[in-house]
Amino acid sequence: MDPLQVLKFCPNCGKSNWNYQTSRLKICQDCGYEFYKNPTIGSAGFVFDEKGRLLVVRRAKNPAKGTLGIPGGFCEAGETVEEAVCREIFEETGIKVAVEEFLFDLPDDYEYKGIDLYPLDFYFKCKIIDMSQMKLDESESSEMLFISQEEINPEDFGLEANRRAVKRYFNK
Ligand SMILES: [Zn+2]
Repeated sequence: MDPLQVLKFCPNCGKSNWNYQTSRLKICQDCGYEFYKNPTIGSAGFVFDEKGRLLVVRRAKNPAKGTLGIPGGFCEAGETVEEAVCREIFEETGIKVAVEEFLFDLPDDYEYKGIDLYPLDFYFKCKIIDMSQMKLDESESSEMLFISQEEINPEDFGLEANRRAVKRYFNK
């Protein structure tokens, strides 16, 4: 559901005199608080090993539980997207990476616990710096694997945005 529909009361004053101004903006008639439906910034990395194989994780959680994913996650406040992608990949896999280049960004939308999210995902090509602390975060992923470019099938990636990114990057 649209987050502006979920929010029945003004998050600032708690009153219900809180109306749509446009489809992406609600304004409180009592306190003037404005709430925009904005994207959430995400980042994801195409990480390759020395054999040119791609690092992927198998998602342990919904959305798209059990399918492959490109490691990454949401940006925290105060972080750059480059910092976020390196931190997320390290948290998920224990692999230290560095950003080599920005590839492209893609908007996504899906429902999480009943509320629509609008991630805007930034995709980077990353290189591995250190694999000595490699350790899977099992709350996020059930498996991590390196797959050769011939084995890459966009249909194995459950998140629509990941699938589009894989198609785009590998021309598949
Ligand atoms: Zn208010």
